[in-house]
Amino acid sequence: MPTIDDFIRPKEWCSDFVNDIGKVIREWAEDKLMPIRREIDGDWQKHELVKPLMKEVLVDLGINPAFFPAEAGGTDMPELMAMIAIVIEELARIDSGFSVAVACSVWPLIPILAEPHRNMELCIEFGEKFCGDDLYVGCHAMTEPASGADVENVGVMKGRTIATSATLDGDEWIVNGHKIWPTNSGEIADLFGVVCSTNPGSTDLKDIAYIFVPADAEGVSVGKPYLKAGMSADMNTDIWFDHVRVPKRYRAHGPGDDVEYWRHCISTGNIGSAAMCIGVMKNVYEIIKKWTNERVIAGKKLKEHSICADMLSDVAIAIESTSAWTWAYIREHDHPEIYGMDPWSDEFCLKTRGLAVHATTAVEWACSRAMDFMGSYGYSREGDIEKHWRDQKVIGLWMGGKALKILENARYWYETETI
Ligand SMILES: Cc1cc2nc3c(=O)[nH]c(=O)nc-3n(C[C@H](O)[C@H](O)[C@H](O)COP(=O)(O)OP(=O)(O)OC[C@H]3O[C@@H](n4cnc5c(N)ncnc54)[C@H](O)[C@@H]3O)c2cc1C
Repeated sequence: MPTIDDFIRPKEWCSDFVNDIGKVIREWAEDKLMPIRREIDGDWQKHELVKPLMKEVLVDLGINPAFFPAEAGGTDMPELMAMIAIVIEELARIDSGFSVAVACSVWPLIPILAEPHRNMELCIEFGEKFCGDDLYVGCHAMTEPASGADVENVGVMKGRTIATSATLDGDEWIVNGHKIWPTNSGEIADLFGVVCSTNPGSTDLKDIAYIFVPADAEGVSVGKPYLKAGMSADMNTDIWFDHVRVPKRYRAHGPGDDVEYWRHCISTGNIGSAAMCIGVMKNVYEIIKKWTNERVIAGKKLKEHSICADMLSDVAIAIESTSAWTWAYIREHDHPEIYGMDPWSDEFCLKTRGLAVHATTAVEWACSRAMDFMGSYGYSREGDIEKHWRDQKVIGLWMGGKALKILENARYWYETETI
């Protein structure tokens, strides 16, 4: 009888090592996360349940150090995107909010961690904390009150709406600004990767700066957690930077290179979002498989009604197609020597936008259709579909929303010039 492990994940593309990491994460998630997943919504303000579990994954299971070089105390796992995706998918099967909280710890560090644009000096400095015995969490701060999607829309907006400023004063950057929404903001994050402008209003890409700011630096303050429809394991708040001084070396690379390598965060975010959708859909598959096999309607099992089989088949097709496409792009990301496209390039970023649109549309549809056939049970907390239905919606809303993703994807495939 097929299980979630029979959905496509090409064996030639996913090493035994990556598969084994997936098994470890699955075992941990079923043991530790599954029993409390219905309680996580009540934990949105304090993260009393979530934070200790983040420590177990990021520190005890070694997910933070997995991405740091050995010289920085890490384990420097090969196949960066495959590693990120497998962890995201397995955690999202239980709770996509927890999955994004974990994934976003190292996400802001991609511009300095990933080869060949590694900044070894910063890896070693930040590695001391990220690879230590205590929980140390990252946060990727792009979005601002007046500018969400436009910050990411580098091709058209060219950074001109980034209001957070960075001014060089001797050996220090002075950062001023206001960010909103970042995953792990509030009391969770220890280090922010901040998208700034060295000349607000400018359209010169060299003026976009990516600067690291420790959460305990003087002048950093955070607001209260936002109350959201779902994704309660992800804490989101305001962050203010008021004349915050950080060393000059905390700029990721320098003029021109910062924006180029920061785009790598967006490509990995697109593929990671797709992996998250796969995890959610696999659990939807498990839930509706059991439900439609046990529920008897009009004298026979629900799954034996052709109108229901239509939905069951479509959910399976959505998982199969999303997984095949996601693993193809993971392969392209991890092996540019074969596919010839740099994973931090603008082209790869725009191309992976299409995958994110496909995956987020598929997961939204799958949750809604599954709920249709679970009736009122699907709408109740104990059905568990309801939680996925609320949580997944934001995967399509974040990172510029579907509109920007579609526009950027069209820009890649059709070389549009004005949108
Ligand atoms: C749970 C959660 C986690 C998040 N995590 C992070 C994080 O880690 N870091 C971070 O910086 N931010 C994060 N965000 C913020 C998120 O990325 C932004 O909300 C998102 O980019 C959209 O910005 P906005 O909400 O300001 O929408 P707006 O920018 O105001 O966009 C409004 C609408 O316009 C559409 N649109 C965009 N561009 C165009 C265009 N050119 N033409 C027509 N329509 C367009 C959008 O798709 C959207 O539908 C998170 C948000 C949530 C809810």
